[in-house]
Amino acid sequence: MDISIVIPLYNEEKNIASLCSEIRSALSATGKTYEIICVDDGSEDNTLSELKKQKKDFPNIKIISLNRNFGQTPAIMAGFHHASGEIMITMDGDLQNDPEDIPKLINELESGFDLVSGWRKSRKDGFLLRVLPSRIANKLISWVLKTRLHDYGCTLKAYKKDLVKNLRLYGEMHRFIPAIANWHGARIAEIEVNHRPRKFGKTKYGINRVGKVLLDLLLMAFLSEYSTKPIRFFGSMSFLSGFLGIISFAVVVFMKIIEGTDMTGNPLLILGTLFFLVSVQFLSMGFIGEINIRTYYESQDKKTYHIREIFE
Ligand code: UDP
Ligand code: MG
Repeated sequence: MDISIVIPLYNEEKNIASLCSEIRSALSATGKTYEIICVDDGSEDNTLSELKKQKKDFPNIKIISLNRNFGQTPAIMAGFHHASGEIMITMDGDLQNDPEDIPKLINELESGFDLVSGWRKSRKDGFLLRVLPSRIANKLISWVLKTRLHDYGCTLKAYKKDLVKNLRLYGEMHRFIPAIANWHGARIAEIEVNHRPRKFGKTKYGINRVGKVLLDLLLMAFLSEYSTKPIRFFGSMSFLSGFLGIISFAVVVFMKIIEGTDMTGNPLLILGTLFFLVSVQFLSMGFIGEINIRTYYESQDKKTYHIREIFE
């Protein structure tokens, strides 16, 4: 199989028929073999029966029906796990992404990249609640994670199989795949893709996504820098807190000697004690973190490096 197209679907009944036919017409011209992996993410409408209808006519559609609504990231992961193509494509199932762009992505990928990400340059969503927050988020994510992309939110992407097969995603982390790939040393490109307004069905996200993305970004920033050396992070915090503790105690003693201030009545004494306790806590967290990452890597025989090629 050359290409697997992975599509998460949650309540998209009216989009399925055109989605499948558009993908077919876009890919038949490429002459490559392909499969469409449709993941029904616990839809409450007729998404599943619509998919089954399509499958009757076109056997290269594979349907994965999840038990309940798990969310877009788990749905994409389920698709990856059941895909067998050399190239993986992800796209939204609401026809906002244009299947006509798939051959362009594939060409770019084959010119020597591990991941090609779509950039919805003129995005057809509400400006104030969707486009503007997303622009700010893209700048922030690019800066924090040191992986420059214009559009982290675009699901339309192409990946080499190897990149995706080792990927583990939790929560809503699919939008960070390029950053994770970048840590692994993947070669990443971004190309402009078409974006269309949603015709049927409703968006599953709103402005409340902002807080969630910020928390995810914080976690990614931590993981990007410290996932194999947590003691460096928690240790620094521990040193800082310990240092502030020493200063507090010094001031208490200083005030006693110079001004005769009662030590036990001085709130700085309590502050110093607090800093010391926090310092010990941070250090312990660092040690526990170090034990955790050893368990994580060694129990699964995971490597802390990624080999591109070996020349013997
Ligand atoms: N989706 C999903 N599970 C969810 C939410 C969304 O599988 O819990 C799918 C949805 O059906 C669509 C894609 O993820 O195919 C993107 O969702 P949506 O169009 O609502 O996001 P937006 O384009 O508004 O960011
Ligand atoms: Mg959409």
